[in-house]
Amino acid sequence: MTVTASGTRVPGDEVVSALRGRFRGPILRPGDDGYDDARAIWNAMHDARPALILRATGTADVCAAVDFAREGGWTPAVRGGAHGVPGHAVCENDLMIDLSLMRAVRVDAEARVAHVQGGATWGDFDHEAQLFGLAVPGGAVSQTGVGGLTLGGGYGWLTRKYGLTLDNLRSVDIVTADGRARTVSETNEPDLFWAVRGGGGNFGIVPSFEFQLHPVGPMVLGGAVLWPFERAGEVLRFYRDFGVDSPRELGINSAVVTVPANPLFPPELHGRKVYAVFVCWNGPFDEGETVLKPLRALAEPLLDLIQPLPYTAQQQMVDQLGSGPFGRRQYWKTGYLDEFDDAAIDAFLASAEHATGATQCELNTIAGAANEVDPAATAFTKRNGRWNHVHIQCWEDASDDEANLAEARRVGELMTPHYAGGAYVNFLDVEDPARVRQAYDETTWTRLRNIKTAYDPGNLFRRNQNIPPLD
Ligand SMILES: Cc1cc2nc3c(=O)[nH]c(=O)nc-3n(C[C@H](O)[C@H](O)[C@H](O)COP(=O)(O)OP(=O)(O)OC[C@H]3O[C@@H](n4cnc5c(N)ncnc54)[C@H](O)[C@@H]3O)c2cc1C
Repeated sequence: MTVTASGTRVPGDEVVSALRGRFRGPILRPGDDGYDDARAIWNAMHDARPALILRATGTADVCAAVDFAREGGWTPAVRGGAHGVPGHAVCENDLMIDLSLMRAVRVDAEARVAHVQGGATWGDFDHEAQLFGLAVPGGAVSQTGVGGLTLGGGYGWLTRKYGLTLDNLRSVDIVTADGRARTVSETNEPDLFWAVRGGGGNFGIVPSFEFQLHPVGPMVLGGAVLWPFERAGEVLRFYRDFGVDSPRELGINSAVVTVPANPLFPPELHGRKVYAVFVCWNGPFDEGETVLKPLRALAEPLLDLIQPLPYTAQQQMVDQLGSGPFGRRQYWKTGYLDEFDDAAIDAFLASAEHATGATQCELNTIAGAANEVDPAATAFTKRNGRWNHVHIQCWEDASDDEANLAEARRVGELMTPHYAGGAYVNFLDVEDPARVRQAYDETTWTRLRNIKTAYDPGNLFRRNQNIPPLD
């Protein structure tokens, strides 16, 4: 391999042919066909050019890629569904291990178990599991990766009933920094299984997840209700109790958004700022109609889109709205709220004051089954949060970066006094490492660092929300 005067690594043909013997998937260097597509990730703020991209096709490829990285002194970036907002899935002048060719899903309908490859998206997963009317709580956007979302926590429409995504894991296959493939579960290397459930990509690469499934749909009562932004305070005062007190068959979240010029919405609403409550009722429809009635009767909605629809359509409902589409520029601010008092509502409304275009100001409800799991059972310890705030500042043009970053920071300053502490690691952007530390309590952090030291003492997997090994 050559290293130019400016430090650019140029892996020569000899590097590629040596790898060929042990790695079966595509090996891409700058200039190769497919290189630019493979390096593109969802947040366009991270336009990085890896020296080498290894597109794995299975567990053996992942083992070979990890060995290659460790032996060659590379610091690999690991790409699952490429939705991580801080852009850790790609890197400049280093090695990218891309799992996006590994998207197979196998469902055992009788046992209600799914085996899902590490590069699959929620769209891939639901497509197969819904064939049998089964699902796990997954993300609310179908292009998001199962990999990153599950390892950091994972919540969506089914969380109030069935917990976090990681609460539904039975086992994972994982390739650790020594290049060894292991299957870990409650009974096999339970410490490592505990750590991967909340510790993100810190402990290795997961070529395959095994989930316990639940009966869901295939039809649900879903959709959204939209109110003028001016009435958001009134609706929020209702939403804060309704979202946590209603039966757990109801999945619910809400956001201030600007209605896009999309045929789904009447033209007179295009460009209008609204407060939207999104729902998904997975239960008997007559009960759902009764539960949802007070919400739908509230404060003269502009539009009521609640209707019976396939669960897979619910899972794609917001794919093309707001921050959903690939390739927009993004910066996020986030924190949990335990109390959602009037002062917090006022701060939230002020935070949304300048939101335009694709920017979304979200308040998600996580209560229910997710709160009832023993906090020590997994590395996801912040179990008493009820709402998660995330401000998704979203824009198109690089020349607007400074103004948008400043706006997101203004929102952060407004909301921080109302945050209850902790943080959802999957929503943290490029931040002070202290914020990553806050995602875990003291005992969990110490245990995570001990396990990191045992499995990755050299911190090979550090392009992530990093949990460093002990010094
Ligand atoms: C539009 C959008 C909607 C979202 N909606 C939700 C939601 O409804 N609920 C929710 O909980 N979160 C949601 N998120 C946040 C999401 O959980 C994180 O962005 C998560 O990191 C995405 O995972 P990924 O595999 O797509 O991303 P990537 O960027 O590919 O992965 C992020 C990091 O996770 C690790 N990783 C990924 N796959 C693997 C693997 N197989 N093995 C080991 N490490 C791996 C790597 O460290 C990687 O750098 C959303 C994000 C976006 C952008």
